[in-house]
Amino acid sequence: MKASFATRRDFLKTTALAAASLPFLGALSSCARAADPGRKLGFALVGLGSLSTNQIAPALQKTNFCKLAGIVTGTPAKAQSWQAQYHLSDKNIYTYDTMEQMADNPDIDIVYVVTPNALHAEHTLKAAKAGKHVLCEKPMEVSVEKCQQMIDACKKAGRQLAIGYRLHFEPNNLECVRLAREKVFGSLKLIQADFGFRIGDPNQWRLNRALAGGGPLMDVGIYALQATRYISGEEPVSVSAITTVTDPAKFKEVEESIAWQMKFPGGALASCTSTYNFYGLNRYQAFAENGWFELAPAYYYDGIQGRRSDGRSIRFPAIDQFAAQMDNFAECVLNSQPTKVPGEEGLRDVKIMMAIYEAARTGKTVNL
Ligand code: NAD
Repeated sequence: MKASFATRRDFLKTTALAAASLPFLGALSSCARAADPGRKLGFALVGLGSLSTNQIAPALQKTNFCKLAGIVTGTPAKAQSWQAQYHLSDKNIYTYDTMEQMADNPDIDIVYVVTPNALHAEHTLKAAKAGKHVLCEKPMEVSVEKCQQMIDACKKAGRQLAIGYRLHFEPNNLECVRLAREKVFGSLKLIQADFGFRIGDPNQWRLNRALAGGGPLMDVGIYALQATRYISGEEPVSVSAITTVTDPAKFKEVEESIAWQMKFPGGALASCTSTYNFYGLNRYQAFAENGWFELAPAYYYDGIQGRRSDGRSIRFPAIDQFAAQMDNFAECVLNSQPTKVPGEEGLRDVKIMMAIYEAARTGKTVNL
């Protein structure tokens, strides 16, 4: 497949141009200018599960403006092994009950909340109370009210709140935003966006409504929803939805699969699906007046690539999305500039997802 940009220089030039002119693309370069190159902000990770262990801690080692300074965990054995692996001092090890004592710890600037969805507000509020900036994983929380509490708490503390929307820093997704904003194929008519996988362990928190807030929609469908919003550059005005369960023993509390449609004010429609029942669903395709573009896969940590209806491919080199996201937030904090992925952005998605669930429950179109 032929790359759509011949050289890395072409890519950087195009991205820089686009970043300068488009608010979404600005995520790649915003806050990046005036940071003191000698200062690295200390991150404390809350929740040392799969994402923290396999993605975030390794990504922190590749950042320019961040370092792993502390951890919050309820498991003493994890505290011990992380402390040894990352050379963390005793005073920077916390439990969920002691994390507010971070208020006295200047080593920690930013708290990264990586716990199950329904604990995000509790941990964000504690971090804000300790005077720390917060980066919180997606989905922001499981209700609009809890999202608002998080925004209010960080505002009251005078600290920034960002949501872990790593694809706002991913070059192939940014290129698709450019294609849409510059109307390279004319005005947008339809976006199809889908993300799902087959879930394993039936006892995990992702299948527990109280902790997850919902099923695949909350977990990975949110990426498809995000794609429709950043590609269209608009907010949906109405949604309809259906869900299905074929394995009621496993899916007692959350949906197994979900399909939803949205209408955008500019006239475009979106048709989306998400599932916990099968592998391989990872794409979006945007159809415009004179052509289309797609990413498949669209949302993975690497290997993202796509095609356009004019025969060109979309294939920028993979970056470490977590490192880019953390560096960007650190630079925003260092320069007192707003993040491109604030709590308000997380709240917008949660509000739409609640409307999608209401539409599925009632069988009616829900206006937003
Ligand atoms: P995980 O189950 O692997 O880890 C969760 C951690 O929270 C564990 O260390 C667990 O011990 C801890 N925890 C604290 N209280 C808990 C409780 N009451 N019940 C269960 N666990 C508890 O999950 P994960 O995959 O690391 O996901 C964590 C968060 O990160 C979720 O919000 C998820 O949506 C998000 N996530 C984001 C991405 C991404 O690409 N941005 C990828 C995966 C997960």
